[in-house]
Amino acid sequence: MKIDQEIGALTLDLVNIASVSQDEQAIADSIQAALVEVKHLKVSRINNSIIAQTNFGSNQRVVIAGHLDTVPANNNFPGKKTSTEIIGLGSVDMKSGIAAALKLAAAVTNAKYDVTYLFYESEEIETKYNGLELITKQAKDLLNCDFAILMEPTNGIIEVGCQGTLRFQVSAMGTRSHSARWWNGENAIHALTPVLEILNSYKSREPIIDGHKFREGLQAVKINGGVAGNVVPDEVTMTINHRFAPDITPAQAEENMKKLFKDFNFQLLDVASGAPTGLNNELIKDFVSKIGTAIAPKFGWTDVARFAAAGIPAINFGPGDPNLAHHPDEAVKIKQIEDVFASLKDWLTK
Ligand SMILES: [Zn+2]
Repeated sequence: MKIDQEIGALTLDLVNIASVSQDEQAIADSIQAALVEVKHLKVSRINNSIIAQTNFGSNQRVVIAGHLDTVPANNNFPGKKTSTEIIGLGSVDMKSGIAAALKLAAAVTNAKYDVTYLFYESEEIETKYNGLELITKQAKDLLNCDFAILMEPTNGIIEVGCQGTLRFQVSAMGTRSHSARWWNGENAIHALTPVLEILNSYKSREPIIDGHKFREGLQAVKINGGVAGNVVPDEVTMTINHRFAPDITPAQAEENMKKLFKDFNFQLLDVASGAPTGLNNELIKDFVSKIGTAIAPKFGWTDVARFAAAGIPAINFGPGDPNLAHHPDEAVKIKQIEDVFASLKDWLTK
């Protein structure tokens, strides 16, 4: 993989280095080898994450970050190139963003901010494997910065903040009996009827935060129950996912859900806080005005929230349609990768 080639070809090269989560050694080796050749960068490595820092002498630093891993292939590996698109696993999420960041790392030899380019492992799986998390634990100083840009796919617009996510279970108990003599039992699955009613009649909150409308959600994502085809079930559990806007804390979101499902056994599974928009931060304001694209709220959870939790304002800005992320037909327009690269380069150097 050579950085010094056309950005579409570079994206294709990256797509064609398999890097399903926990199998990022080859791509990390390849990126490390390319970046150590770039004179103005100091390159470090933590496990399979690569960190490359400039030293332009600015008193402000920005992190430009992207993850190296992909979800498993779905008949879309290796990738291919047409005259306008790169098609294949990870082309959208997020090797086109990685290609743009690598190009910037090589091309920007002086800038108003110092830059830390971060290419990290295992974003698509549990937190304990996440490269950002690992660097935070082992070498936190490498992440020191005033502002972070996550090059996750946003279709070339700026996406601000992100919603929090909370998963919990509600369960109901009953009494087993033969389904032919059902009157001897009490059906636990039927006892969840009020839960379904709550879910169906739930009115999503749509708060406007710094001028941008977020949209919460409450969805059943799994149900477990039943004993056999002729038994009235005595136990049922439903897993529910609540997406909450970043104007409330995880504790408030949990409290709201406990209130809503107060008549049921409630068990919290996991929760991750959202991230504020950062639009009142001076560096983000400057970024937004220089880049000049549309701005939208981020509905899905991204590592922007991890930066926010560490006190670092962060936004999402990258090539690729997020609706195609993790999709078998992943494809990205080469023109969009070029545009994202060019606007970041102008912002850093003009
Ligand atoms: Zn991603």
